[in-house]
Amino acid sequence: MNETVLIIEDDKTIQKFLNISLKTKGYNIIGVETGMEGLSAFMMEKPNIILLDLGLPDTDGIEILQDIRRQSDIPIIIISARDQEKEKILALDAGADDYVVKPFGPGELMARIRVALRNKNSSSQAESVFELDYLKVDFDKRKVYIDGNEIHLTPLEYKMLSLLIKYKGKVLTHKFIQQNVWGCETTDEYQGLRVFMANIRRKLNDNSSNPRFIITEMGVGYRFVDE
Ligand code: CA
Repeated sequence: MNETVLIIEDDKTIQKFLNISLKTKGYNIIGVETGMEGLSAFMMEKPNIILLDLGLPDTDGIEILQDIRRQSDIPIIIISARDQEKEKILALDAGADDYVVKPFGPGELMARIRVALRNKNSSSQAESVFELDYLKVDFDKRKVYIDGNEIHLTPLEYKMLSLLIKYKGKVLTHKFIQQNVWGCETTDEYQGLRVFMANIRRKLNDNSSNPRFIITEMGVGYRFVDE
């Protein structure tokens, strides 16, 4: 495979750490330290995935993210010391595939990279049946089964579950969910969404404190487990 990872990060220690851990896993690395170098490396070198820091010396990473998103759907993972929920939401809504807060372990980052690359490669061929543990979703028949028994989801609940599975492994922000399930954004501080998600979890025998399927990303949104 030898996929190429573009790392846009001005911290030399992290740059070096990423270089070593990614090379060990067989990735090719292009490392740059400014946003402008990042943009030109993106255009010239055609990487498969980008790791992007937000606090860059010449420009904000969010601007680089927006710039690249206007031209490409390449997977982009934000690596940032900014751990505020609103920063994460801003980046995810601007089109980041994932967000990893520094400091992070190499294992976690590798897993996120694999998910982002796999989602990219599989997004064209949608599965018609999804199965994980005791859950089965038949997308052709629009039916959901728990332990082989069909359960009833409302049309919106089904839409929500399909959306989560389609983007499994990826954080979906509240805003993204509302736009894609309801087709609009409501202003009730997402309280309605919480109740809605609680109903889906109950029907799936899932538990928010020890989730089998749906993980809450506190203050940001939800993520379906990655197998
Ligand atoms: Ca930085």
